[in-house]
Amino acid sequence: MKNLINMLLTVLSVSICLSGCTKKAGKDLSNPFFSEYNTPFNVPPFEKIMAKHYMPAFEKGIEEGRDDIAKIVTGKDIPTFENTIEAYDRAGELLNRVMMVFLAQTSSNTNDSLQAIQIELSPRYAGFMDEIMLNAGLFQKIKSVYDNQAEFDLTPEQKFSLDNLYKKFVRSGANLKKSDQDSLKVLNQKLSVLTVKFGQNVLAETNNFVMFLDKNDLRGLPESVISAAAQSAKDAGKEGSWAITTQRPSIFPFMTYSPDRKLRSEIFNAYINRGNNGNENDNNRILAEILSLRAERARLLGYKTHAHLVLEPRMAKVPENVFNLLNNLWGKSIPVAKSEVAEMQKIISREGGKFKFEPSDWWYYAEKLRKQKYDLDDNELRPYFKLENVRDGLFTVATKLFGITFTPITNIPLPHPDAQPFEVKDADGSHLGVLYMDFYPRESKQQGAWCVTYRNHHIVDGESISPVVTTVFNFTSPVAGQPALISLDEALTLFHEMGHALDALFNKSTYNNTYIAWDFVELPSQLMEHWALEPLVLNMYAKQYLTNEPIPADLVQKIKNSGYFNQGFDNVEVLAASLLDMSYHTLESPVNIDIQSFEKEYFKKIGLIPQIVSRYRSTYFTHITGEYDAGYYSYTWAAVLDNDAFEAFREKGLFDQETAGLYRKSILEKNGTMDAMQMYVNFRGREPVIEPLLRNRGLMK
Ligand SMILES: [Zn+2]
Repeated sequence: MKNLINMLLTVLSVSICLSGCTKKAGKDLSNPFFSEYNTPFNVPPFEKIMAKHYMPAFEKGIEEGRDDIAKIVTGKDIPTFENTIEAYDRAGELLNRVMMVFLAQTSSNTNDSLQAIQIELSPRYAGFMDEIMLNAGLFQKIKSVYDNQAEFDLTPEQKFSLDNLYKKFVRSGANLKKSDQDSLKVLNQKLSVLTVKFGQNVLAETNNFVMFLDKNDLRGLPESVISAAAQSAKDAGKEGSWAITTQRPSIFPFMTYSPDRKLRSEIFNAYINRGNNGNENDNNRILAEILSLRAERARLLGYKTHAHLVLEPRMAKVPENVFNLLNNLWGKSIPVAKSEVAEMQKIISREGGKFKFEPSDWWYYAEKLRKQKYDLDDNELRPYFKLENVRDGLFTVATKLFGITFTPITNIPLPHPDAQPFEVKDADGSHLGVLYMDFYPRESKQQGAWCVTYRNHHIVDGESISPVVTTVFNFTSPVAGQPALISLDEALTLFHEMGHALDALFNKSTYNNTYIAWDFVELPSQLMEHWALEPLVLNMYAKQYLTNEPIPADLVQKIKNSGYFNQGFDNVEVLAASLLDMSYHTLESPVNIDIQSFEKEYFKKIGLIPQIVSRYRSTYFTHITGEYDAGYYSYTWAAVLDNDAFEAFREKGLFDQETAGLYRKSILEKNGTMDAMQMYVNFRGREPVIEPLLRNRGLMK
């Protein structure tokens, strides 16, 4: 949930003065947010909540939140954990409740009125959050509890919570003297302008380049690629022609199927030089300036580099840990990529080609290699992936692991009429939480898949408040006379989001505010994906939807093999970008660096092979000017964790009760209330190792 709030704030990171809203909002009792929900399991009364209810509830929520904070600040008693940290945790209860419903609904079931409210509400909510983070009186109270914590006999959860809250304020500059706070504000403002400009330049450069094709150039392209190219040409004002753009969905299918080396090279060069053309959209100087300002801000806040600042609350903690992992994997991936080049060079020779392999040849020859070695047709699989079968298979996996059950609920408010509600019960039959599943696309829903909560687990007056969780998808819809037959990818997505849901359902946090490490979030979700493709599990749920026959063994084998395809390339491409990101953000004083020569020298130093270009080059690496600065490594980090964690089940048994119980107790119940590495060690008995990832990706020699 915290992520969603942050997402909203960054989308509209505007901060406006709140002084305009001094009018006291009254409590209209017909507004469902102002009274007890009185619904089964106390879920939000969705049918009663109308667009007009949000603003008054939000205004009242801010007012109450502001009063709660003021009470902490003006309190005469010596600051204690209870009167400060716990009080802070309970502050703005109404606001929190409204925001959770609002954010979940605007992503899965929005409309014009809700979107209008979103635009009005986002900057005001951001402004209120700024008001709290920059409240000097509040910080002094928190600091007092932090400095004197030895006197309070705190539980480990309380210590963890206090430590994280205090450092969050410090990282936002609360501990700086006034003049430094003013410098910080200037730095933040400059950075926000530059990062927006960087993104706009990438967008402009991506849109500016169009490569038009003749009829002859369509050779080798599948029908779907040709019709997409026709649409692109039409969009570019040349109806009746065909065009390829530097958007990923346009360029990479073309790179995969076009036999024309010259055209492939032309579009690829345009792609890898976005933001590096010396025109008004050039990003070289902008990135250099961003890096320099970030380094300056880190120094001001007392950190060695920007990466040190960003990594502090994460599992990785310091840049050295990230470099160790990335370098280790890099060493294993380069030789595999080289052998892939050799295999493709063989195909070229066999076909009588007399040229040296270039980066722009990769996709075309990799596809030939894939056909030769790993051919797996999605349409061959779909009949075995009827949505209900996959869902029930997933439920069975969860039951076999944790003893929990899923009972459909009738007569409960639904966030949308299509959502399916389940009561999740523990092995002893006690209530754990409510889970909604909302499967199909519709206009009011955003793209993608996600899991969010309408209520998190917390404890009030000694009583556990159970979570309300929703998982939202955009799966292939059923067509007339046929059930929904989903793809392998969609089946994995279903297991993935259930992993997030279990994390929320099993959580035993005392407080509303939890601190889940940003590079640990995907462990529970990615771990669940492993069960989906195990032959034993596939045999349980992947049944032909008409005949009920289990999936044939050769298809299971093909699924397994396809996991090894192109792994040298995939890993090197992503690792190169991750290492570049970290190398930039561990520079202590990068003033006026020349981005092009830095990048070139760096890749030369670490031994990137000439046949592969980093997945992102500097001038269009929007991740590092967005939310993934010193963070692109996290994809790889999470993969190490999930592969190593699953290995525990491989060692002891896919459904070993002791291992599942330990995983639940050490990680799922504690996530966000304890140090991530400590939780992991409690589960695994040691820190994570990379060998299982290497094995699963075919990088082990
Ligand atoms: Zn996820």
